[in-house]
Amino acid sequence: MMIVMKADATQEEIDTAVSRVQDGGARVHVSAGAERTVIGAVGIDPQQRERLAALATEPGVDRVVPISKPYKLASREFGPDAESALEIAGRTIGGGAFATIAGPCTVESYEQTMSTARTMLEAGVQFFRAGAYKPRSSPYSFQGLGREGLDILRAVKEETGLPIVTELMDVRDVEAVCEVADVIQVGARNMQNYPLLTEIGRSGTATLIKRGLAATIEELLMASEYVLKEGNPHVILCERGIRTFETSTRFTLDIAAVPVLKELTHLPVVVDPSHAAGRRDLVLPLSMAAAAAGADGIIVETHPEPENAVCDGPQQLRADGFATYLRQVEAAAALAGRAPAPVTVPA
Ligand code: PEP
Ligand code: MN
Repeated sequence: MMIVMKADATQEEIDTAVSRVQDGGARVHVSAGAERTVIGAVGIDPQQRERLAALATEPGVDRVVPISKPYKLASREFGPDAESALEIAGRTIGGGAFATIAGPCTVESYEQTMSTARTMLEAGVQFFRAGAYKPRSSPYSFQGLGREGLDILRAVKEETGLPIVTELMDVRDVEAVCEVADVIQVGARNMQNYPLLTEIGRSGTATLIKRGLAATIEELLMASEYVLKEGNPHVILCERGIRTFETSTRFTLDIAAVPVLKELTHLPVVVDPSHAAGRRDLVLPLSMAAAAAGADGIIVETHPEPENAVCDGPQQLRADGFATYLRQVEAAAALAGRAPAPVTVPA
């Protein structure tokens, strides 16, 4: 259930509503938006339902909305105007702000990572991505540089000021990854690793959750709920292609997931055209389609020399052409009413 407060509700009225919800034994999540405060009540005893519904007539309360979906905090049911704009390290994503997350598949060396980051900074991306821990299908493939990779990312962040998006695969690495990451990436293969999602929720660090290879949209939303229920509201969802019978692309990009997710959730939605396509030549059209369909951003792979990349070379864009690519994607985003937001001072 969501208790939506009036825009002019006083702090006292908000506090009263919160304690009424707590008295009923429900878990409370208060989201103080720019316009109004919304109180989420999760785990309500069925006998308390009516008592909470009666809050609608209390001073300062605009309406009480039952959430019928199995995911609660991720749901958009409490209002069509509720689109979360996440502020992460001075960058904004969602609520009309389009953000690009770009960088190589993996950290290979200081030179390769730094050179890509400099090009990305110049091109005007909002976040830099690169994996230090890589989820590879074969245990014999390169697994990432691990801690050494994290150290390189730390140096890149210090020198360029770009916020870092990097993958976490193992709960034992939460602390080390959180020291460097502004956004923790949860890979497609870990979307349903519930202990991992819970730990990320507890860490408070923002996260980008990729849709599993064969996960439904509802399962993706349920995964986000694991993070949200720990009191961490900084969740970005990512469509990255799903398994179908089609083999001409690496996965099948589910473009419909963008408007469907935007209808179901207030969370920002981004698209990864690189892993969906598996082919460099398809990355631009898929990115433009995603942006025009209303995505809040893209996460895309790029490398100074894709032909020499340690992994995912065939899909990585050449870093030297990236600025041209990005202007085309941003033009498509403008069609859907989204534009990159200026950098704000980090909180
Ligand atoms: C990646 O982003 O490099 C990656 C491994 O993605 P996914 O989990 O979507 O396969
Ligand atoms: Mn990759």
